[in-house]
Amino acid sequence: MSLAEKLAEERRARLAAERLLELKQAELSAANRKLGRHALALTKQIGQTQAEVATVRDENAKVKSDLHTVQSDLHTANEKIETAERRLWHSIQVFQDGFAFFDSDSKLIGANTAYLNIFDGLEEITPGISYTRILQLLTDEGLINTGEMGPDAWRSMMNDRWLLPAPAPVVVQLWDERYLRLIDQRGHGGDVVSLALDITSTVRYEKELRASRARAEAANRAKSAFLANMSHEIRTPMNGVVGMAELLSDTALDEEQRLYANTIKNSGEALLVIINDVLDYSKIEADKLELHPEPFDLERSLHEVVMLLQPSARDKGLALLVDYDLFLPTKFVGDPGRIRQVLTNLAGNAVKFTKEGHVTLRVTGISSPEDKQCAVHVTIEDTGIGIPEEMIDHVFGEFNQVEDERNRKFEGTGLGLAISKRLIEMMGGEIWVDSEEGKGSCFGFRLPLPMDGSPDQPEPKLPSSLRHVLLVDDVPLNCEILQKHLLMLGIQVTAAETAAAALSAMQDSVDLVISGHNLPALDGLQLAKDLKAGPWASVPVLLLNSSPNAANEPDIRQLVDGVLQNPVPRDDLFNQLAKLGASADADADDVISEPRTEAGTAQAAAGPEQAAAPSSPQEPHELQEPQARRMRVLAAEDNKTNQLVFRKMVKELNIELQFANNGLEAVEAFRSFGPDLIFMDISMPMMDGKEATAEIRRLEDGTGAHVPIVALTAHAMTGDSEGILAAGLDHYLTKPLRKALIHDKIRTFAPDEAQPLDPDGAAAAAGQP
Ligand code: ADP
Repeated sequence: MSLAEKLAEERRARLAAERLLELKQAELSAANRKLGRHALALTKQIGQTQAEVATVRDENAKVKSDLHTVQSDLHTANEKIETAERRLWHSIQVFQDGFAFFDSDSKLIGANTAYLNIFDGLEEITPGISYTRILQLLTDEGLINTGEMGPDAWRSMMNDRWLLPAPAPVVVQLWDERYLRLIDQRGHGGDVVSLALDITSTVRYEKELRASRARAEAANRAKSAFLANMSHEIRTPMNGVVGMAELLSDTALDEEQRLYANTIKNSGEALLVIINDVLDYSKIEADKLELHPEPFDLERSLHEVVMLLQPSARDKGLALLVDYDLFLPTKFVGDPGRIRQVLTNLAGNAVKFTKEGHVTLRVTGISSPEDKQCAVHVTIEDTGIGIPEEMIDHVFGEFNQVEDERNRKFEGTGLGLAISKRLIEMMGGEIWVDSEEGKGSCFGFRLPLPMDGSPDQPEPKLPSSLRHVLLVDDVPLNCEILQKHLLMLGIQVTAAETAAAALSAMQDSVDLVISGHNLPALDGLQLAKDLKAGPWASVPVLLLNSSPNAANEPDIRQLVDGVLQNPVPRDDLFNQLAKLGASADADADDVISEPRTEAGTAQAAAGPEQAAAPSSPQEPHELQEPQARRMRVLAAEDNKTNQLVFRKMVKELNIELQFANNGLEAVEAFRSFGPDLIFMDISMPMMDGKEATAEIRRLEDGTGAHVPIVALTAHAMTGDSEGILAAGLDHYLTKPLRKALIHDKIRTFAPDEAQPLDPDGAAAAAGQP
């Protein structure tokens, strides 16, 4: 091979090597570029990783620091818990009372020293001991006084109690006479917290309290018994004094002697009122006062009270008015004696503390027929001295009076309102007063009263001719009340305040004139006279008078056609109107007859304690058989003075009177004497009035006979009159004996076949002293 060839070959080889080199260089630079890119990416990644590592590192450091804080907080909390636990435990230890807690298996977890002391140093009482074992130790070691129960029964009782979800506290006595009240409370997980409270001093105090209460009650009973005895002992002779004084004033006396007799009577009566107040109050205090509900007529009771007060009101020139809601029932079930007592006290005070003007008793109420209940609302309003504002709450207290120079002249015990308040509260009601000094007072009470189911009085039958009444009275309120009653009956009313006004208001359509008696200028009687003398002679006139005796005065009877006692009970008004109708009918039939008053009938229906009301003259029994017997009256009364008083009181009546000195004699006299009427004292030796009556009723049984028996009760008995009516007595009268009421009862029950009560056939003025 030539050189050239060799050179060419070399050249070619060189070229090829150069190309290869170029190729390799290109590959290398591509690889380099790739490597560069890789390196760049890697660097980026490393940077990122480094940042992440730094963050993690930071976080780690933070966690570490947080952990540290938590650890330190935990430590502090632990310390706090320990302190709290220490304090709690310390406090529990300081307790004077025992404290322990048990787990749900009734094993002791811990207890304070006071609790452990109960066990008097017994070493076995440590945490872990069971409740049952504790009970066992208590009885075995004689640490507990199990009393009459005995240890076994006591443990079983205590164990049973422990297992209850909420054991009731129990009192146990320790050997050293200490008393513990054990209170155990079960928690959620079944743990039980036990408290053992030392109540020794409380128990001792309670014992002392019980002992002193028993002593006080005994003393109170002794006081009540003493007061009851005393009042009975004082009352019996006082009844004699009052009765005799009443009889004495019936005899011919000169003025001075009459004054003395009346003073004896009034003082005696005042003393009886005081004794009764004191007695009632002591009974209420001793919780001995019982209520005796029975059906009664409230409106009637109100009028009875008013009638009793009427004389004092009349003497002072006060108008005493009753405004009974026309739409309110009148028959209720309640204790009429006690309700009358409250009414008497409130209305009596109103009259006592009023110099001029009026006293009005107003009754309204809300009745609910479904439950037969009625909320009765009674107010007693006066125009008297009133009560200063600061004393208003004071007057219902015991022995409290508005004492200043103004009212020292008023008598009274200061007990009336306190008694009334207690009575009203006992009856489930409330009592209050509104008053303005110098203007007047309004006392009121509200009482829930069941309505009596007995049928109401039949509607009055009024004469159809009665259409227009001329009403004459100078007390506007009185006119207003009467007007309401008349309007309710569908009667037209023209009102006039004076007789002169009445005369000029008179017109043809008027068919009745009702006039007050004491009118200014011309009085009611003069008005009647003038009417009779003029063209209206045929128009009947009824006179309103506050005196119960007016109806019996001959000149009044001559001039008017009837007398209504003011304030007029609705029944009396209706009866009088009906009676006018009856005589109008009789006139129409041309029959001449003396109009008879219905007062007797009204009284008989009025209840046991009806006060003196105008009573009618009895019709003379002209056709009486000459041999007719006299009415037989038996009076059972052990007290000789009262017998004497009774005898004198009935002496002008034509009756055969026999006395019995006790219940046994009364029963005997019932058999032998055959009385038409018996007055029966309740408290008598040997056999009391209730027993005697029961015996008489037993003897009557099956014979169809029923002798009326009227109980004579001391005031002291009215509260405990339990069974007086149940024992078969028909009525009762309260001592001191009242002539008018005794006469009234005798007249009511006089048999038709007996001789007239008034021997000369003349009208006896029953109710007149
Ligand atoms: P007292 O027996 O004195 O009347 P009360 O308990 O009935 O006893 O009344 C207490 C006092 O309340 C009375 O003394 C009187 O001061 C006052 N008081 C009672 N009712 C009235 C009244 N209607 N007007 C003025 N004061 C009255």
